[in-house]
Order: sequence, then structure tokens, then C-alpha cells
Amino acid sequence: VPSLLWLRRDLRRHDLPALGAAAGTEGGQVHVVFVVDPAIWGSAGAVRTAWTAANLRAVQEAYGGKVSLRHGDPRTLIPRLAKELGVDAVHVSAEPFPYGRSRDRAVQERLDAEGIGWVETGSPYAVTPGRVRKKDGSPYQVFTPFSRAWHDHGWREPAADPTGLHLADAEDDKRVAAMIDKALREGPEQLPDAGEKAALKRWHDFLDGPLADYDGDRDKPAVDGTSFLSPYLKVGAIHPRTMLADLDGRRGTGAASYATELCWRDFYADVLWHRPDSAWHDYRAELGSMRYDESAQAVEAWREGRTGYPIVDAGMRQLLATGWMHNRVRMITASFLAKDLHVWWPVGARHFLDHLLDGDLASNNHGWQWTAGTGTDAAPYFRVFNPITQGKKFDPQGEYVRRWVPELAHLAGKAAHEPWEHDDGYDHDYPQRIVDHAEERTKALDRYQAASR
Ligand code: FAD
Repeated sequence: VPSLLWLRRDLRRHDLPALGAAAGTEGGQVHVVFVVDPAIWGSAGAVRTAWTAANLRAVQEAYGGKVSLRHGDPRTLIPRLAKELGVDAVHVSAEPFPYGRSRDRAVQERLDAEGIGWVETGSPYAVTPGRVRKKDGSPYQVFTPFSRAWHDHGWREPAADPTGLHLADAEDDKRVAAMIDKALREGPEQLPDAGEKAALKRWHDFLDGPLADYDGDRDKPAVDGTSFLSPYLKVGAIHPRTMLADLDGRRGTGAASYATELCWRDFYADVLWHRPDSAWHDYRAELGSMRYDESAQAVEAWREGRTGYPIVDAGMRQLLATGWMHNRVRMITASFLAKDLHVWWPVGARHFLDHLLDGDLASNNHGWQWTAGTGTDAAPYFRVFNPITQGKKFDPQGEYVRRWVPELAHLAGKAAHEPWEHDDGYDHDYPQRIVDHAEERTKALDRYQAASR
């Protein structure tokens, strides 16, 4: 009896337990399908839509053209297809995010009514969200204890490639091919190489190179010290289990720190699984009465990288130009919006999601909440990032700023972080600071204090 493998956030062929489960032991035929769901495709922003499109092409190639790309609402399309193909079960990796969960329950109900099975094997995470819990069964709300329990829980070995896999021919949907072409045309001029092969190459290059200095370099935005794998993890071109297995047994602090970063990804997915409302609402209710500003002009200056604070502007321009921003600078720019411009974090989270290749509801929105002080881990609200000292500390030679802010390219070294200290600082029309950091810091602290009283 054939089976159906429905790909979603797992656009790869290796280390994919759901593929092994679909292939079964008897080597039955596997139909592979990806559904372009208009509810998601339209809302992801041009950058991420193009990235998904490029990865769909790559996964098609990896499966020898045997992935059917369909268009429609999966709630009706998947059960119909399963019936037409006469499969005994639909196989997936479990989807923990709110939209995917409710969609999957609807599909499962319809399949049940037809007597067709629904099999979830694995998820896009090392440990499936919801599994790591305190002894009393409640979820963790703070990262460090979660990470200990996560390590103790452990994860599976990478899945072997199924033997005797027999993939069914794919049906061509011309409309989807046209949608992919359109997405690629409307997306950024340059996208990173897409697909599993590119992800694995990047990963192995990282293991052989930057990993050794990861601990020291990961905070320096001018250095290629991080793996740049977040866009690949986002679409499932690589799985964290594969990466954790490769890190296992490697000595040095780089490997341990890297595993901890992957744990943050699992943690935020776990938080969202337990608290779907935390995607767009304060995780902690304490700051519910916080007063926010809504200056459209200031938000626009932030979005476009015209705040007059060099490291903030460099980050915001890197985001618009490349669809990616360095983690340290994500924290600095997010803090600037939340604490210098007093804007509620969802406004910034939305902008990031619209422009990031790796834009991810769990990591992004909880990363924003962490910075804003409304999230898990009680990042104390009085910790306000100073964009000038942060810039000088993490980009000591000013290289990152000069790379993204050409108006400051004439300033040598640290000077790029403080154009106001130099006679020629504004010779090339760099904007003046839109606010005074010291004043806004005080204002933010006053408001936080008033709200948490
Ligand atoms: P590396 O340093 O090589 O880290 C390896 C992997 O660990 C990353 O690919 C990522 O999957 C994971 N990771 C690292 N740091 C974090 C973190 N703080 N939270 C969760 N996972 C982490 N990450 C996203 O994947 N998507 C987002 O939309 C996103 N938005 C963010 C928004 C804000 C305001 C902040 C502060 C952080 C955000 N992050 C997000 C986390 C982090 O910035 C990126 O994962 C990281 O910069 C990706 O680059 P990399 O792959 O080179 O990271």
C-alpha cells in the first residue's frame, strides 16, 4: 500500500525520520507532496517567500523531481489527495506552532473519517516541543534550567536513509511553478544558495573553521564568526539533530556554546507550544499597564536605518539589504526600538518577520520579548543597551558600521561610532541622532517602574 509524505518545515532528504516511517519496512511506494498554502505563502514577506521558493526547487531536485507541489488549503487538499492515491497513512514531522497545530488537527479529523492514518514522526526540533518538563509536569519558564533538562532528555541519533525507497512520480502543478518563479522574481536580487546540499556544506565549513573561535567571535558583527544556518534551519534544509551529533565529542568551548544556541531555538518553540498567545502578547503580564509611544516617523527612521546611531543603522540596513542581521545587533536594534523609542515590541517583531530569511515566530517574537523585558528569563527591564558603548565594544574597529553605513566610511576606527565627536563626522550627510539616549533611558526606566508598581 502506498503512503504519503507531506513535507512542511523539513525540506530535505537526509535525517528525516518521517521519510523512513513513510517508506516503512516493506518498501512500499511513497508519494511526496508540498502544499503551497495561500494563508502562509502570502503573509511571509517577499524575502522569506523567495527563500522558501528557492528551497522548494532544491528539494525537488534532491528527490529527483518526485515532489508534487500543490496549491490550496491543506485541510481539504491533503485528505482528498490521500483518498485519490489510496494511501494507508499520511506521514509528517510534527508541527508545534499554533497555525500548523490547528491545521493538522483538522486534516487528521478528515483522514480519520476516511479511515486513513496520520503519523507524526519527529519535529523540526532536537526535542519535540512539550516533552521537556519539570518533575511536576509543568513547563520551564526560564532558559538555564530548561537547557539542563533538555540535555538530560537527549535526542535521537540521526535517522538513516531508508533502504529500497520507492518514490512515486510527481504530478506537475503549473500554477505552483508560476508562483515559485514569481516569488523568485520579486524577492531579493541575491539569495544564499538554497537546499540541503548548501546547508550541509555551510555546516561542515563552519565545523572545520569558525567553530573553534565561536565563543569569542560570535558577538562580533564584523566577523563571519557564526554559522549563518538559521535560514536553513527555518526551512528544515538541515536538522539540529544532525548538527548535535556532529558536535558530540568535539572538544573546546565552541561546540558547547553552539549546542546551547540550538537549545535556545528548542526552548522558544517549547514556550510557544505551551503558550501560543505569547507569539503576539506579553509573555509576562506584569508590564500590561506600560505606556508606549507611537511615533510613525521615529519607527520609519528605525526601519530604514536613519536613527543617527551608527550600530543601530548598520544593523537595520544589513537586514534590508541581505535578509539577515547579526544576533548581537538584533539585540541592540530591538532594544533601541523598545527602550529608546518606547515602542511596543510587536511592531519591531513584525518588521523583522517581514524581512528576515530566518524569520521565525518562536525565536523572533520571544527574542523581542526578551529584549523588551516582557518575556521569559526576566531580562531585567533596567538593562538598557547603550548603542554607543555596545558598538565600541563589539565592533571596536568600526568595520561593521562602515560596511553598512557609507556616510560614515570616512571615519577611521572607533570614530565611526561617534560622528558627533568629529569635525568631519557629518560631512557625508549622516543623519543627526533622532533622540538622546541618556534621556530616553531615564524615561524608559521611569515608565517601567510605574508599570511594575
Ligand atoms: P549561530 O550563532 O550560528 O547559532 C546557531 C543557531 O542557533 C542559529 O542558527 C539558531 O537556530 C540558534 N540560535 C542562536 N541564537 C538564538 C536565539 N537567541 N534564539 C533562538 N535560536 C537561536 N533566530 C531565528 O532563527 N529567527 C528569527 O526570526 C530570529 N529573530 C530574532 C530577533 C531578535 C530580536 C533576537 C535578539 C534574536 C533573534 N533570533 C532569531 C536569534 C538569533 O539572532 C539568530 O538565530 C542568529 O542570529 C542566526 O544566525 P546564525 O545561524 O549565524 O547563528
